[in-house]
Amino acid sequence: MRQSKLFTKTSKETPKDEVSTNAQLLIRAGFVDKLMAGVYSYLPLGLRVLTKIQNIVREEMNNIGGQEILMPALHPKDLYDKTGRWDKIDVLFKMEGVGDKIYALGSTHEEVVTPLVQKFVKSHKDLPLSVYQIQDKFRNEPRAKSGLLRGREFNMKDMYSFHKDEADFLDYYEKSKVAYLNIFKRCGLDAIIAEADGGSFTDKLTHEFQVFTENGEDIIFSCNNCHTHRNAEIVKDKQCETCGGDLEKNKAIEVGNIFPLESRFSDSFKFTYLNKEGKAQPILMGCYGIGPSRVMGAVVEINHDDNGIIWPESIAPYSVHLISLCSESGDIKKADELYDSLTSQGVEVLYDDRVEVRAGQKFADSDLIGIPQRLVISPKTLVGDSIEVRDRETGEETIVKIKDYVQ
Ligand code: ATP
Ligand code: MG
Repeated sequence: MRQSKLFTKTSKETPKDEVSTNAQLLIRAGFVDKLMAGVYSYLPLGLRVLTKIQNIVREEMNNIGGQEILMPALHPKDLYDKTGRWDKIDVLFKMEGVGDKIYALGSTHEEVVTPLVQKFVKSHKDLPLSVYQIQDKFRNEPRAKSGLLRGREFNMKDMYSFHKDEADFLDYYEKSKVAYLNIFKRCGLDAIIAEADGGSFTDKLTHEFQVFTENGEDIIFSCNNCHTHRNAEIVKDKQCETCGGDLEKNKAIEVGNIFPLESRFSDSFKFTYLNKEGKAQPILMGCYGIGPSRVMGAVVEINHDDNGIIWPESIAPYSVHLISLCSESGDIKKADELYDSLTSQGVEVLYDDRVEVRAGQKFADSDLIGIPQRLVISPKTLVGDSIEVRDRETGEETIVKIKDYVQ
């Protein structure tokens, strides 16, 4: 991508109405734009990051047998009447349509997925099954001040699994934990699993995937002895419930959450299956959420310095930021050739080919945008047919022959 063609621009000004680091940096660097509190547009650079996160999530969900679908975001009220959740989900956006119809905007999809899967699953032979989608969710969050960490419209991957018995459910639940840890690791996040209360969903414990950072909204208690973690909301004692060890308190961001739903929703829809003996049995469900947009915000909260964002390679908008300081047509031609050969090799390059912008501004933009590797091509480096290679994270710089870099 030629930066001269990129319609977004960076900004030196910190947006006045944003208090969170992730929103300030992502807006200044031109990844997202704020429409209103908790609602953002994804611009070309930001959409590339979000798509990469979604694709990592997609791969790991497919790996554990998840089948991707896309369900409507607009839901009829009668489904919530069946589950009794119309007035229980406090963040539900509700609205009226033509002919006295009443709708909700999806904040989660149990009401839609359960009767959907019910149409296809009749016997034990149809189980187990898991389906997922990647879609925007809507929640009327009372506080939406944390940028991408807490949106009123935000992106979520939600998966739902269906099982014939507890053992089968547990087997899948454990597989999902591994897949989730893979996802966060691949996105450059060091997530831990914390136990949490299931709230209105279930009597059982649910599991949250948390990344420690001072800027997190959650409080996690970690046991120094048995190394288990628990969400503060359920911690009653100062001692670990498992082993009696001392607890340490830290702030964290919840990036994922998995729940055993038991037959809470299948019962509401009278969704059962026929076992081998032809007898109707309850269906057990699990649900599994990750917020790709929150993951993007969390990565920025954790990986930045005074100059800007530091993207992990796996989700960076581009892997190389090629900066040309060339002004003579012969030199510009060499910079263009380098860009062409890198892109033809499949390297994702953002090419700062802007002629009217000073070097200092280009470097500042590059640090702000945070692409892992910066290449500088200039009349100076071209004397040795070389480029300067700089690592965004470490700041380490080396001079490399163009022919060695391109190969
Ligand atoms: P929180 O406790 O932070 O409000 P939650 O427990 O209500 O979140 P879940 O229903 O478990 O959220 O949603 C699954 C995942 O979706 C969360 O782990 C998080 O990654 C993401 N998520 C939830 N709410 C938001 C939001 N308002 N903005 C961005 N991402 C969100
Ligand atoms: Mg949660």
